[in-house]
Amino acid sequence: MKKLIFVTGGVCSSLGKGITASSIGCLLEARGLTVRMLKVDPYLNVDAGTMSPYQHGEVYVTDDGAETDLDLGNYARFTNAPISRANSVTTGQVYRDVINKEREGRFLGRTVQVVPHITDEIKARITAIGKEADVDITIIEVGGTVGDIESIPFLEAARQLIHEYGHANAVSVHVTLIPAVTGGELKTKPSQHSVKELQEVGIQPDVLVCRSDEPLDEALRRKLAAFTNIDFDGIISAYNVDSIYEVPLVYQEQGLDSFILKRMNVESRHADLKLWQSLVRRIKEPKSRVRIAVVGKYMELHDAYKSVWEALHHGGFAHQAAVDIVPVDSDKLESAQVDFAAVFKDVAGILVPGGFGHRGTRGMVDTARWARETGLPYFGICLGMQIMAIDWARHILGWADADSTEFCQDTPHPVVSLLQDQINIKNFGGTMRLGRNDTVFVAGSKAALAYGGNLVSERHRHRYEFTNTYRDDFRKSGITIAGLTPDEELVECLEWPNHPWGVGVQFHPEFKSAPVAPHPLFAAFVKACLDQAKARQTPGSC
Ligand code: GLN
Repeated sequence: MKKLIFVTGGVCSSLGKGITASSIGCLLEARGLTVRMLKVDPYLNVDAGTMSPYQHGEVYVTDDGAETDLDLGNYARFTNAPISRANSVTTGQVYRDVINKEREGRFLGRTVQVVPHITDEIKARITAIGKEADVDITIIEVGGTVGDIESIPFLEAARQLIHEYGHANAVSVHVTLIPAVTGGELKTKPSQHSVKELQEVGIQPDVLVCRSDEPLDEALRRKLAAFTNIDFDGIISAYNVDSIYEVPLVYQEQGLDSFILKRMNVESRHADLKLWQSLVRRIKEPKSRVRIAVVGKYMELHDAYKSVWEALHHGGFAHQAAVDIVPVDSDKLESAQVDFAAVFKDVAGILVPGGFGHRGTRGMVDTARWARETGLPYFGICLGMQIMAIDWARHILGWADADSTEFCQDTPHPVVSLLQDQINIKNFGGTMRLGRNDTVFVAGSKAALAYGGNLVSERHRHRYEFTNTYRDDFRKSGITIAGLTPDEELVECLEWPNHPWGVGVQFHPEFKSAPVAPHPLFAAFVKACLDQAKARQTPGSC
């Protein structure tokens, strides 16, 4: 029988259930097991695609074009499990499918109810994930916090599956917070209550992952074990560490993987964590540091650009360098008094990430101009490439009114615009250009050099495109159209001429970067920034 591991969260949100689920996946893979990862989200949205970054953080895009929760990005960074549309389940999808079946008459006149119809649909989606013959274990992260009204059908489905699979085949991991009160004393009461809440819905956790600033001592772990009916070895101290990539090692040290596997009677080899150990060593002992500005519009919220953040750090790992990210709100760069030299004085490169809507785009265009004119490495991602096109049109081609039709519908020079097939779309959800698409790069371009090849496949999430009628004007004025789709219909990459590293891509490379396999474009960009930092420090260099 296949094995299931459910990961739930208690006390409050944002405790790192996703990192816990991913770290367990990482440890099991290190033991030669094959895992699958699944996120179930209790919200009613069908997917994360229509949600504001302020509400929900980044939208993570899969190869098959699903717009999903950012935790799927963690799964992809920590494990080799394939991630697709099937790995993200929401209440919205479940209800939509059950109601569609009801309209088709598939319930043969029966009353359609949360139990069993909604719970059966959830169970079917969970068990479908690990169906392939070689899969050993599916790890299911239940979004939200135990006690939320929305989570109830998911917890009921989990309860039924744990019962049906039997205790040797299904494990429950509960992630909670151990807060410190004044004086630093650690308190277990919220976790005791949270476990009780889980027990009330019929789930006895086997493992308690306790988040706290400092490691828990043995006495506290014994107390938690006594109050929660959990074995002492199942009480794991998830204390704060400098890098999220240390978490698998912290868990392994406390025997979390062997505890879970013993519990499920799974035999496996010892964990081979050489790759992660050497990664963490390199993270902790960087040979150099570099400051890189990210100029975007959702800067208050760290999670809005989660994968970009991580990929920048990975780019640093490739050179044993620490990347210090300097968030810059593009809105704030729009007044006439802004001194760009002062804003970017201490940074060695600028990244403009993806985004939607007019706000802040003028600040981004002027930022691109600054990087282009001062020779500062620039990496434009999706919107960041479109911004490069607007800067070029305004300041090199001399069309001061050039814009994207997303920001100004009647611009006389729409260098970025909608393709015909996007013009009449009424629904927002799932209607962008989404998912995997190939790009062919010009031989010798910076992008081709970074990848070490001319043909790549990357993920997309955008509606607007570079306007093809302007290709000649752009080429003649010197910018390189460095990448196209294989049918040559769409522009995928722009590169500045005579510039250390000015590259814009219409796709989102950040989704495919991992700490143990940094994305080539991020690695090349960070290298250009490191070179820049060195050059700027050298007396006599410009
Ligand atoms: N708003 C732009 C578009 O839809 C860019 C999208 C993005 O950066 N993801 O084309």
